[in-house]
Amino acid sequence: MPKDFLKDVQNRYDVVVIGSGLGGLTAANILGRQGRRVLLLEQHYKLGGLATWFKRPGGHIFDISLHGFPYGMVKSCKRYWSAEIADSIVPLDGVRFDNPMFSLTTKYNREDFTQLLQTQFGIAPQVIQDFFDTARGMNFYDEQETTTGQLFEKFFPGREDVVRLLMEPITYANGSTLEDPAITYGIVFSNFMSKGVYVFRGGTDRLIKLMQKELEANGVDIAINSPAEKVLVEGGKVVGVKVGGRTIQTPVVVSNANLLNTLFNLVGEEYLDRNFCDQARAVRMNNSSTQVYMALAPDQTVDRSTGDLLFSSTAHRFQTDLLLSRDITSRTFSFYYPDMRPEGKARHLIVSSTNARWEDWSNLDEESYQASKQDLIETTLDALEKYLPNCREKIVHVEAATPRTFHHYTMHYHGSSFGTKFEGLAVSRELPQQIPGLFHAGSVGIIMSGWLGTINYGVIVSNDVDNYLMAAANQASLA
Ligand SMILES: Cc1cc2nc3c(=O)[nH]c(=O)nc-3n(C[C@H](O)[C@H](O)[C@H](O)COP(=O)(O)OP(=O)(O)OC[C@H]3O[C@@H](n4cnc5c(N)ncnc54)[C@H](O)[C@@H]3O)c2cc1C
Repeated sequence: MPKDFLKDVQNRYDVVVIGSGLGGLTAANILGRQGRRVLLLEQHYKLGGLATWFKRPGGHIFDISLHGFPYGMVKSCKRYWSAEIADSIVPLDGVRFDNPMFSLTTKYNREDFTQLLQTQFGIAPQVIQDFFDTARGMNFYDEQETTTGQLFEKFFPGREDVVRLLMEPITYANGSTLEDPAITYGIVFSNFMSKGVYVFRGGTDRLIKLMQKELEANGVDIAINSPAEKVLVEGGKVVGVKVGGRTIQTPVVVSNANLLNTLFNLVGEEYLDRNFCDQARAVRMNNSSTQVYMALAPDQTVDRSTGDLLFSSTAHRFQTDLLLSRDITSRTFSFYYPDMRPEGKARHLIVSSTNARWEDWSNLDEESYQASKQDLIETTLDALEKYLPNCREKIVHVEAATPRTFHHYTMHYHGSSFGTKFEGLAVSRELPQQIPGLFHAGSVGIIMSGWLGTINYGVIVSNDVDNYLMAAANQASLA
């Protein structure tokens, strides 16, 4: 008989969270800690969503999305998770760029960038300061007409090399492009520039294990292998969730699933007003990714001077379409040294990531798909050869993931790595007005994505849920 993953699940909860990405996990943890009865449903057999990992024989553990996040994670994890989690967040020292315009290594913070822009790129100190201050002063409520490209043109006219230095890592960090609103760049860039790039020591597996321990301590019920089928709406309000043939009653659902999936599959447009549906249909997905995972033989090493994060490109110009093209010219290599997992086996791993378009991979027949994956692997090894000579002899395991892989594991529309483009944020925020009791806390709008963005979005939404439940309780006591 198949295992019943809902066996210990109650019939009624204060809140049901659909999806255990970092946004869903954080919302569930905060609400559980506040004493709410919370059920967390995850369709996959693991928690974490895109914050995930996989193991291969030989002691190799690959992280999928642990390449770097801003220092703000320390504060968010300390407040909303635990000191143990916050204390495991450590800086990356070696961020490298290597492209036909320049090659350099940086700590990737404001001080270092100011120095670089002045000495290596010849930019006047006042211009640099004004640029940093403008980026840091940006917030959600600013006008959205100015694009990132226009922002750069204002401060660094005609300087494609400077644009490349400032933009390439952010495109990688949240999929944003020169055509997106400047605030999507300014907020994320300033977050990184405050103190550089950080990672989680112990790997994603350790992080998610610690988070699960915290959730359980806060009384959150967790059901894996449990895809929510429907959010139930009655009298215009949320009344429950259908999962595994059962109906779980709840006045509040927090969906961490993809925004469009939430609206059009889990809820259904018959419950939403027409203008809102039109607005939602116009929301664009962010791009997806390809990755190549490589493990070195146990007796092989990567020299530390190779760096931690290497933005490599052979493209002579920095252009969005080149970054997304199937004809890959830009790759970001993450080098993982044994101190990343001090308790694990001493292994050197490399992950190469590239932005990619869903449509370039979605329609391939099986044979072409496998051939394309192999081609991706071979061209990546060719590119890596420059930084790790004779890499083919040193690597004992290699495999690739594509937009189809990300779609398969998270059910994200188009395998999107960072949820929706900026316009998704307004739609996500509007949901509780459309259907009282329905909230969304998942990657949207470029800003609310990435590890820090989604954790912070989970915090914001748990606050909204708390207010909603308090107001409902007050109303009930008045009645
Ligand atoms: C290749 C790659 C590299 C990345 N690198 C970085 C990086 O270096 N730094 C960084 O900060 N960010 C990175 N990101 C982005 C970051 O991982 C994501 O933005 C973030 O983890 C998304 O969190 P989320 O809360 O939106 O949920 P997601 O991770 O999208 O999870 C959603 C969850 O909902 C579940 N779900 C969906 N539908 C249902 C349903 N019906 N019922 C139950 N469960 C459901 C899914 O299975 C999934 O677990 C990367 C992403 C990718 C793909």
